[in-house]
Amino acid sequence: MIKYEIGHQLKKIRNTAGWSLSKAAEETGVSKAMLGQIERNESSPTISTLWKIATGFHKPLSLFVDGLLVEDSDENVQKKAKEFNTQKHDLKAKILFPFDPRFGFEMFTIKLEPLQTHLSEAHDKGVFEHVLVISGELEVKLKGEWKKLSKREVLRFSADQPHGYRNMSESIPVEFHNIIFYS
Ligand code: MN
Repeated sequence: MIKYEIGHQLKKIRNTAGWSLSKAAEETGVSKAMLGQIERNESSPTISTLWKIATGFHKPLSLFVDGLLVEDSDENVQKKAKEFNTQKHDLKAKILFPFDPRFGFEMFTIKLEPLQTHLSEAHDKGVFEHVLVISGELEVKLKGEWKKLSKREVLRFSADQPHGYRNMSESIPVEFHNIIFYS
C-alpha cells in the first residue's frame, strides 16, 4: 500500500527535520490541511504535490516511499521496484532504484498516456535529470521550448528550472527512464 507508506514516511521526515505542519506548509507550498491528510493517509498526493514536498524538504522523491531504503541489501533493491501511481489521472512512475546516498541518484520508469502532459517546477540546485526514451516519442520542455526525443534517444538537463514532459501522440503511450542525480 503505497498510500500508507507515503504518509508514514512524510511524518517521519517531517519529525526528523523538527518541522511543524505550518513550517512544512511554508517550505513546500503544500497546504497544512493537505499535508495532514497525506500523513493520516486520508489523501493520496499527486506526483506534482509529492515533488513539491520533496523539494521543500530538499530530499529525493523516492525517500518519501517507505520500505525501499538503504537497509535493503544491494541484491534485493531491484525486486522491490514498485509503482507509486498516486492518482488515477496522474502519470505512472515506477521506482527502479530508490535514492541511496552512496550513489547519489534515483531512477524511475515513467509512463505518459497519449496526449498526457506533466509539468514540473524547479528542483533543487545541482539536480540533473537524465532521460532515456524506451518507447513512443517524448517531448521535454526546457526554457519554454519542447524538444522531441525518439526511442533510445537521451537527454540530460539541469533540473533546477521549470521543465515538463508530454506525449503528443493520440494513440501511443510513451515510456522513459529518468535518472535523477543529486549533488
Ligand atoms: Mn523533474
